[in-house]
Amino acid sequence: MIVGVLGAGQLARMIALAGYPLGVDFIFLDPSADACANSLGEHLLGDYNDPRLLAQLAERADVVTYEFENVPADVAEFLASHTQVHPAPKALAIAQDRLIEKTFFHDIAIPTPAYAAVDSFESLEQAMSIIGWPAILKSRTLGYDGKGQSLLKSADDLKSAWEQMAGVPAIVEAFVPFSREVSIIAARNVSGVIVFYPLSENFHRGGILRVSECCDKDPMQQQAEIYISRLMEALDYVGVLALELFETDGKLIANEFAPRVHNSGHWTIEGAETSQFENHLRAILDLPLGATTPVGKAAMVNFIGGLPVTEEILAIPQAHLHLYDKDPRKGRKVAHATVRTETSEQLVALIKQLTLLADKVDDS
Ligand code: AMP
Repeated sequence: MIVGVLGAGQLARMIALAGYPLGVDFIFLDPSADACANSLGEHLLGDYNDPRLLAQLAERADVVTYEFENVPADVAEFLASHTQVHPAPKALAIAQDRLIEKTFFHDIAIPTPAYAAVDSFESLEQAMSIIGWPAILKSRTLGYDGKGQSLLKSADDLKSAWEQMAGVPAIVEAFVPFSREVSIIAARNVSGVIVFYPLSENFHRGGILRVSECCDKDPMQQQAEIYISRLMEALDYVGVLALELFETDGKLIANEFAPRVHNSGHWTIEGAETSQFENHLRAILDLPLGATTPVGKAAMVNFIGGLPVTEEILAIPQAHLHLYDKDPRKGRKVAHATVRTETSEQLVALIKQLTLLADKVDDS
C-alpha cells in the first residue's frame, strides 16, 4: 500500500513513522529539498501545483492525504479526480477561509464567537458597532499561530489594525474571555466509524502552542464529541480532524478546525493506545480504527526555535523525545517531548521540568 502525502514536514514524518509497522510506503510531494520527512519515503521535489509531479503522485499512490491545509484547492480537486484523496477537498476549502469556516460551524449549530466579514475600513467600523469590544481582527486566509491577527481594545486600535491587514479580506470576531483552550481530535474511517481522543488542554504563548495535556474524563468531553461528530458527518470526513475550542462559562465555543493530524495530539504517540498518526492512516486506508484509550497521564511540550539537549531530556526517565531533523530557526517547531506518568501531581512536575528546558532554547 502506498500513501501519498502533500507536504513532508514533521507531521508527514510522524505519519510515516506510524505507517512503517503497518507495511505502508510513502511518497511525499514538497518544494523543500531538505523537508524533514524525505528520508522516510520517496520525495517528489517541486511545487504543489507542478502538473508532472501531481500526475506521478496520483498514478502511484493508492490514497493521497495532506499534512497541512493550505494546499491549493485546484490541486486537491485534480488529485481527487485521479485517485482517492482523504480528507476530501471540501474540508480543505472550508478550513482555508475563516469566514467560510465560521459560517459552516454556524450552519451546523456549533457555537462560535460573534463574527462579521470585513473588506474595508468602513465595514470594520460598522461591524464593531455590532460585535463590541474587545475583538480580534484576522485575515480570512493563510493565518496560523496567531499570524495576521490584531487585538482591538478600543476605537483607537482600528486604523493601525486595518492598515496591518494591507487590504486582504478579513473577519472580525468577538474576543472570548475563555477559561481554557481545548481541542478534540477524532478519526473517522471510510465506513463512517468515529473514535474520539480525550480532550487536550492547550497552552499558547505568542499565539504558538507550547504545551498540550491530555484531560481524561473531562466534564466537557461529551459536548466536544457531539460537535466534532456533527462536523465530520456534515463533511463526510475521512481521516483525523482536530477541533479547537474555547471553554467559557461551562460552554464550548469553536475557534477553528484543522483537517489533519494536529500538534495538540502529539501526546497520543506514547499517551494513547493508538496514536493520532496511526489512526489517520487506518482511517484513510479503511482499516479498523485503534482504541484511543489514554495510557497513564500524558502531556507534550514543544521545542521552538532551538534544539533541546538530548541528554537533558532523556535524563527524565518518563520523557520521550521526538526530534524533527529540522534546522533551528526563530519561531520554528523543531522537536517535542512527551511525558507519561501515573498521577496528576507527577505530571505537573514533569511538565515543569520539560518547560524549563524548552524555555532555555526558545528564542520567541
Ligand atoms: P488562531 O490562529 O485563530 O488559532 O488564534 C491563535 C490564538 O489566539 C488562539 O489559540 C487564542 O489563544 C487566541 N484567539 C483567537 N481567537 C480568539 C477569540 N475570538 N477570543 C479570544 N482569543 C482568541
